[in-house]
Amino acid sequence: MSLFRTQVQQMEGYTPGEQPQESGWVKLNTNENAYPPSPYVKEAVQKALEGRLNIYPDPLATEFRKVASELFQVDPDWILPGNGSDEILTILMRTFVEPNEMVSAPYPSYTLYETLAEIQGARFQKIQLQPDWNWPVADALEVAARSKILFVPNPNAPSGNRWPDEDLLALIPTEGVLVLDEAYGDFCDRPHRCELLKAGFGEKIVVTRTLSKSYSLAGIRFGFAVAHPELIRGMRKVKDSYNCNTLSLAAATAALKDQDWMQANTNRIRTTRHQLIEQLRDLGFEAVDSQTNFVWCTHPDGEHERRYQELKRRKILVRYMKFSLEEGVLDGLRITVGTDEEIEQVVDALREIG
Ligand SMILES: *Cc1c(COP(=O)(O)O)cnc(C)c1O
Repeated sequence: MSLFRTQVQQMEGYTPGEQPQESGWVKLNTNENAYPPSPYVKEAVQKALEGRLNIYPDPLATEFRKVASELFQVDPDWILPGNGSDEILTILMRTFVEPNEMVSAPYPSYTLYETLAEIQGARFQKIQLQPDWNWPVADALEVAARSKILFVPNPNAPSGNRWPDEDLLALIPTEGVLVLDEAYGDFCDRPHRCELLKAGFGEKIVVTRTLSKSYSLAGIRFGFAVAHPELIRGMRKVKDSYNCNTLSLAAATAALKDQDWMQANTNRIRTTRHQLIEQLRDLGFEAVDSQTNFVWCTHPDGEHERRYQELKRRKILVRYMKFSLEEGVLDGLRITVGTDEEIEQVVDALREIG
């Protein structure tokens, strides 16, 4: 007899990318930002530290929501902050999905959605993307129509492509919500800011955002949802009262205020990304035209795992990923766009490895 809930007993659990604790690695496996956060973040955290840590943080995150709402040009009651956008995804699942209801997501994409569905006891339906990463339109519409939540990372991970807005609007569930996971939205050539929410579909769409990637704050754990106040109202009942702490609130608010810093870093990353894609193609890889801070690449010889291991021996960490498809297996390497020097190292190593 197991003490665990059946769901928990049966599930495998999510495996995050490796986080080596010693230095000396070129770490290009978990899409962190290679550049430091805005200097105002340190200042704000310092100030918060000297303030009153003995009292609870503002459960409504008033100051953060004010800054975020100005940035996205919505009212503050459209914003709900969380302990990373992963927490927002958990809150969404607990707010909208009954056990045995259906949750869906494109595949391959972010594997956490399935884990969260399992924990909730929901059914999970993968929508297998086409080899060019486009939607299988008829299947997708059929599954979306039956879903309580359809999670869509846009741009997608691990592929890095972005879908046209029209494709996504067509997928809004009949009796459910479309969650647009915009973890990488700031890295697009044409960055987006919740346009779809304002285009009149507000009550069926939730946008999630993170400070982990474009704002260089993965260590702080901060993300937020942007959605119609009616949806936020339900989500607020589900979240822990104090899900964001005094220090992370100070850091996130300061980071969001310094748009110039974020823009400068994402611009640098876009330039490096362009070079990485070109160089990978020169080496014979197929690389997706990424709209994110990582590049998905495959080689016609299929020896991705070997290359991953060889890179690792050289203390260069990239993400080797493998997905079971209906007609076999898809694997490849997902390489985070680091600094120019890091990218030079990984490209040189790949050239050497062959
Ligand atoms: C990184 C990532 C997240 C998680 O963001 P956190 O705010 O660090 O929890 C969510 N979705 C996707 C697709 C991601 O790649």
